[in-house]
Amino acid sequence: MSRNNLVDMSKQAPDLQRVVSDITDEMRQRSERGAVATYIPELARVDAKSFGLVVIDAAGNVAASGDCDQPFSIQSVSKVFTLTLALGKVGDRLWQRVGREPSGSPFNSIVQLEFERGKPRNPFINAGAIAVTDVILSGNRPREALGEIVRFIRLLADDPSISIDEAVAASEQRTGYRNFALANYMKSFGVLDNAVETALGVYFHQCAIAMSCRQLAMAGRFLAFLGRDPSTGHSIVKPERARRINAIMLTCGHYDGSGEFAYRVGLPGKSGVGGGILAVAPGKGSIAVWSPGLDTAGNSHLGTIALEALSNRLGWSVFGQLS
Ligand code: GLN
Repeated sequence: MSRNNLVDMSKQAPDLQRVVSDITDEMRQRSERGAVATYIPELARVDAKSFGLVVIDAAGNVAASGDCDQPFSIQSVSKVFTLTLALGKVGDRLWQRVGREPSGSPFNSIVQLEFERGKPRNPFINAGAIAVTDVILSGNRPREALGEIVRFIRLLADDPSISIDEAVAASEQRTGYRNFALANYMKSFGVLDNAVETALGVYFHQCAIAMSCRQLAMAGRFLAFLGRDPSTGHSIVKPERARRINAIMLTCGHYDGSGEFAYRVGLPGKSGVGGGILAVAPGKGSIAVWSPGLDTAGNSHLGTIALEALSNRLGWSVFGQLS
């Protein structure tokens, strides 16, 4: 038993551990792994063969395999945590700035912003996430806003060692031309309160937070269990807020691949271009997978296949669960 009341799954629930280990073995043998993101040069250095998978169930059992303790760049998975923080700060007023409809567009697309007068479709496309970060930034210095985000994630994961990979942040800062375009465009419509450079500085750093699958699965548990940390009973958000964040993950968490992910996996999930996906099986467990190769929509290729297999074998789809 660890300090989180978590239990090594291999002894407690061998079936779940077996499923997780089997899927990892299957994924290791695949030759088609997708393409590692290169538009952030530092991300291109990652070993494309890496693969990690962790499931934490309601009882706190942890089933882990592969490179499950190797930190990777969480990138857009951070947007789940910043959305939670921003909703905690301004509540439903957030929706005056950001919509909650799927975009049907790539994560860094600018086309809808013109038609919709600078209001991003949802908090998970880049424009929406930059607007959410701008809300967290208001009234804070950039360092404080970033500190708040990192502290929140450390608290959720119950791990004070989580930190920012400065090389990744600097790499994106140097090459983030699209994000500068998106932020400038929103600023011209008055959607951002803070300076474009400041909002983007915080955004690039939040995306550069490095976490392992084990830490990410821990951090996602409150979404699987009605806003509570099931091992301590601490409430992070109200149940209705957890449900709504899950709804946005399901409909928008994989950009223009969100419908496909819902169809194949059937779970709320949020991907990042670092190859990580956090998925939530309400009432059942929290899942993190990492495989750096991406599909054409920018979502982890093998990560999606692994989650599809996991949700099938465990019967965890939200569209019809096995008991
Ligand atoms: N930091 C990345 C970007 O802004 C995040 C994108 C992603 O993970 N889909 O381009």
